[in-house]
Amino acid sequence: MSMFQDIPVDVGVIYEGERIRRKDMYVELGGPDVKEKFELARVKKPEEVEDGKITIIGPDIKDMEEGKTYPFGIVIEVAGAKLEPELEGVIERRIHAYCNYIEGFMHLNQRYDIWLRLSKKSYQKGLNSFQYIGKVLHRLFKSELPIIEKMQVTFITDAEKVKELYPQALQIYEARDARARGLKDEEVDKFYGCILCQSFAPTHCCVITPQRYSNCGAISWFDARASANIDPKGPIFEIDKGELLDPIKGEYSGVNEAVKKRTLGEITRVWLYTAFGYPHTSCGCFEGVAFYIPEVDGFGIVHRGYKDVTVNGLAFSTLADSTAGGRQVDGFHGISIEYMRSPKFLQADGGYQRVVWMPKEVKERVKNFIPAELVDKIATEEDAKTIDELKAFLKARGHPVVERWKEEVVAAPEVVPAEAAEAMEEAAPAMVPTITAATLPITAGGYKIILKDAKIYAKRVIIKTVKGEKPEKR
Ligand code: SF4
Repeated sequence: MSMFQDIPVDVGVIYEGERIRRKDMYVELGGPDVKEKFELARVKKPEEVEDGKITIIGPDIKDMEEGKTYPFGIVIEVAGAKLEPELEGVIERRIHAYCNYIEGFMHLNQRYDIWLRLSKKSYQKGLNSFQYIGKVLHRLFKSELPIIEKMQVTFITDAEKVKELYPQALQIYEARDARARGLKDEEVDKFYGCILCQSFAPTHCCVITPQRYSNCGAISWFDARASANIDPKGPIFEIDKGELLDPIKGEYSGVNEAVKKRTLGEITRVWLYTAFGYPHTSCGCFEGVAFYIPEVDGFGIVHRGYKDVTVNGLAFSTLADSTAGGRQVDGFHGISIEYMRSPKFLQADGGYQRVVWMPKEVKERVKNFIPAELVDKIATEEDAKTIDELKAFLKARGHPVVERWKEEVVAAPEVVPAEAAEAMEEAAPAMVPTITAATLPITAGGYKIILKDAKIYAKRVIIKTVKGEKPEKR
């Protein structure tokens, strides 16, 4: 691209989806090892923005130590006659896509979860300053979103400054999210779809409704509407709701049609408010995972930042691998934290009546949205670290799932062909779901067995970690 002749590495859409492993990275910015990191887009008055200005607060790439991780913030300030503050979320989400256009520069996640890596190869080619990255972002934003007339970029790597700005960023995200609360799915004619993550998960399509926030937690229904208005051919598009086929599961004819079209026929049905049957697909950017725990017939929730293993012995990364990739996996559901504040949250599965465990940090964030009588009945890592402890806790607190427990039946899991499983699924009682173990690894007798697109029908499944085997760090 001639537009990037002065940039030492290549820039183009072909680099989207490129992964940089730890051994290949020059430096890491943000990510799970750093608490404070953020990215923000702000709409400003024209006189407040100097077009093309790039500011670096803290060490530039060339001053960083190879192999190290740094706190990180990116602030994009834009101005334009037609720009409204409600476009901030959408502009901000494009930081992810555009950073990934840069050869050897990887951007994952969003908002306060960002995780970037620069490869050794690209550093050696001369990509040694944020000035280059700022230039690329400035040119891509202005060419792809002409509504942006002026733009300046600030990179912050100074630990103290990142720390100082981090709470402000959180406040801005919260104000944005709060705006969309209160509006009901039934009250609008249109939903929105987003396929920005198809570069990573080709069959993924987010359906953004007022009460089902995008998986990444970065795009509300208002944000999506603003984006579709200014860029109707872009990755965010309008969906005519069509007919409401099931108000509890959240099935709309228009959603089915739109998703089928955008996933090239791969996904044909979507139930918006459940983790079973035809759940909303999960890409890889979700903020958290709702995972079914068969032993207690309830859901655990874990967020990306949770470092320990969850109550079923699996870490976020393992659960995320079982969930991601644009698939519909029974009982493994990618979600945003904001969706947990919605009255439609897992509505068809029982909502919070069915949630049994979540990290304390998540509970604090959504506490005011959990029905008051359930708050103390949902365990955190402080209450239960194993399934047995969880069972005891739920019984002691009188969690509503306890009433669903049947007589404990110990049966060996029986692996059946997919068609047979489907038939059994139809006949099975609703609360004994079939788990699709699309790429769920099973370790036995020194062998690792990977089941691809198989369905396992089991009365009871016990999942344990293997001693000495640490979940791989991505
Ligand atoms: S998670 Fe969904 S809404 Fe967010 S960028 Fe990806 S596809 Fe779009």
